[in-house]
Amino acid sequence: CGIVGVIGREDAPQVLLQGLQKLEYRGYDSAGIYTAGAGSARLVKAVGKIAALAQAIGPDVTGTMGIGHTRWATNGRPTEANAHPHVSADGRFYLVHNGVITNAAALRATYLSDVTFASETDTEVVVQLIAHFAQGGLTAHDAFVKTLGLLEGSYAFCLADRDDSAVLYAAKNKSPLLIGKGDGFNLVASDALAMIELTDQFLELNDGEVVTLMASQVQIEDLAGQQIDRAPITVTIDA
Ligand code: GLU
Repeated sequence: CGIVGVIGREDAPQVLLQGLQKLEYRGYDSAGIYTAGAGSARLVKAVGKIAALAQAIGPDVTGTMGIGHTRWATNGRPTEANAHPHVSADGRFYLVHNGVITNAAALRATYLSDVTFASETDTEVVVQLIAHFAQGGLTAHDAFVKTLGLLEGSYAFCLADRDDSAVLYAAKNKSPLLIGKGDGFNLVASDALAMIELTDQFLELNDGEVVTLMASQVQIEDLAGQQIDRAPITVTIDA
């Protein structure tokens, strides 16, 4: 139901938590974050209010990048196991998702019959597919793009790679997602509200675009790999 991602901030868990609090008004049943930094990587989830998630995020949870999610369950009950971020069975990829993948069961049957699943969600099929293609030799970026080409339905995604905490990936189809550009950091979220306390510079995204976010750089390309130049727009919201 709501997504936020950040890269290049010493206070990544707090940025994610504040962003999720701004998305609370949309309604949700569970929430979670994945955050990573120098030598640390943590996944924290909670059913119920963001306050419950905040309580579960102790001072030991630190990171310079991360992804966060508030879930409105479509596939699978509102449980901690079904809360996002979802992680691939090999522990490498972490994914948050808004929307519904309508061909998830078919993709699971075709590509993932030997994979043990930890949740009942359509989203986990996507993160397991990315890991499947990466295990086959593709880079994280190319495994993500290949997976996007197979999906039917709606999505806003933010993807983290445990093996490279200097980069985040994002993409959308029929679900909202936009980039917030900071000074030495970058943000991505389903709603500008989650980012307006940190920036007023936004990049709009279109369906079929793939974003590679680094602390001081944002690359947008189409699914064929063609680079897209887009100037930021300035947005100020009275909140
Ligand atoms: N379809 C996903 C799920 O049920 C995402 C739902 C959402 O947009 O929050 O977990």
